[in-house]
Amino acid sequence: MKRIELSQAAGRRWDVVLVGTSFAACFFARALRGRDLDVLFVERGAYLDWDHQLAHRHEETPAQLRQTNTSGQRKDWALRHQFGGCSNCWWGNTPRLHPSDFALASRYGVGADWPISYDSLEPWLCDAEEIMQVAGDDTAAGFARSRPYPFPAHVPTRAERRLSQIDPSWTPMPTARANGGDRGGCCVSGACSLCPVNAKFTILNGLSAFEDDRFHVVTGAECRAISTAAGLATGIVVRDAAGAETELRADFVGLAANPIGTSAILLRSGLGGARVGQGVHEQLGQFLWANVPFDNYYGGTSITGAGYALYDGDFRRESASVLIESWNAPPSLRLEPGKWLQRLKLKFVAEDLPRPENRVVLTDDEPHLLWAGHSAYAFAGLARARDQIGGLLPFAEEIEFGGFEPTEAHIIGGTPMALRREDGVVDAECRLFDVPNVACLGASSFPTGAAANPTLTLSALSLYLGSRL
Ligand SMILES: Cc1cc2nc3c(=O)[nH]c(=O)nc-3n(C[C@H](O)[C@H](O)[C@H](O)COP(=O)(O)OP(=O)(O)OC[C@H]3O[C@@H](n4cnc5c(N)ncnc54)[C@H](O)[C@@H]3O)c2cc1C
Repeated sequence: MKRIELSQAAGRRWDVVLVGTSFAACFFARALRGRDLDVLFVERGAYLDWDHQLAHRHEETPAQLRQTNTSGQRKDWALRHQFGGCSNCWWGNTPRLHPSDFALASRYGVGADWPISYDSLEPWLCDAEEIMQVAGDDTAAGFARSRPYPFPAHVPTRAERRLSQIDPSWTPMPTARANGGDRGGCCVSGACSLCPVNAKFTILNGLSAFEDDRFHVVTGAECRAISTAAGLATGIVVRDAAGAETELRADFVGLAANPIGTSAILLRSGLGGARVGQGVHEQLGQFLWANVPFDNYYGGTSITGAGYALYDGDFRRESASVLIESWNAPPSLRLEPGKWLQRLKLKFVAEDLPRPENRVVLTDDEPHLLWAGHSAYAFAGLARARDQIGGLLPFAEEIEFGGFEPTEAHIIGGTPMALRREDGVVDAECRLFDVPNVACLGASSFPTGAAANPTLTLSALSLYLGSRL
């Protein structure tokens, strides 16, 4: 990917312009390699290599989004404006969405069905796992796979070994924190937001997967809006650091600026219809800790286990699916002499449903989130999980619950895909219904979220969509 100046980019017409340089943009471009297409990535942040990030640490964390929060609970949103976006700071958990997550309405009468199924996305999930060099366990129950995981799962904790004997739906957490492959192995420090040994897949350390002689990138260039003529996009309007605006011409525009950025660009452009920005949501998390009568930990990575006992079933008619994560590092110690390691750290992660009142609007032409709170469905899922967890941990001596987490850092929604224009913003190929040469890439187009982390699925979706261009 050659880095060029904005003035150079403005002097020509591009086959494809992609807004953003993280998973959604790069996995889309991956499918365009070798197809004689001039592709330009437009990134509002700077190019900061891994050494620079290690040296400067938190200095680059962007300010919180403008928000009006009427939920009565703290709510944070995780954004990262730099080359590679949140791939720099994600943790690398890559569970798949469950097949039923794609068909919530037809199976359980809530939410919406996706216009695309688990089976149609499955080969692309395998490809994404190969690119990220995911470590996972093929024998784990639950998900039909057409190819094995590229690398074996990390060592489970001692508690997870016991749990998987009681309940086979406990599986090693699939992860892009390396256990083999061409990155260094996971150091198990639990410092995954900025991996000290570069073991976690990032766009920066995986860049060779997204290279082509005809791919170029401009950084420090914020896409403000899409230009159109006669019902088609003709390019984008970009603002540089000095505030000057330039028009870039393109035959196809992919918005991969995460749900907040993508919604804001469409709102400024007056495209996508009345639903743009509505229904932004993310999962609701809650930590819990159990004292156990044996030493736990000694797992091979930070988040080692995924429990599916509370994930899918008829209960989803009334309450959310919950994924149980088991955390090995950073550990939680038991504050009793001689029993330091006799503790199990878990997290419930509940799916949320989109609520129209949670939405991105523009104030002073900038994104502004109106947040009324997570759905009652998500809270009901966590209540069910708290009620049932005792039965799932028969060896626990005592269980303690934390409060609701202010963010799961998994923003979803704002431009949902649907079969019919009246039900969404984009069609089954994530193209705007009203401007078909504009695609919304990433989790903004998920019609519903899931309890599972979204990034593997949004990357696979981008591969699939790129292959269809
Ligand atoms: C701390 C943390 C931990 C996480 N852990 C996990 C995990 O374990 N598993 C998981 O599945 N997910 C995880 N996530 C979520 C994951 O990072 C996101 O799902 C993923 O990064 C989304 O990819 P994306 O390409 O859609 O958007 P982003 O990664 O958000 O990237 C958007 C890009 O667009 C650029 N951009 C935005 N607006 C504009 C504009 N107007 N013009 C030009 N460029 C623009 C941004 O600078 C950025 O480069 C985590 C996130 C965080 C913050």
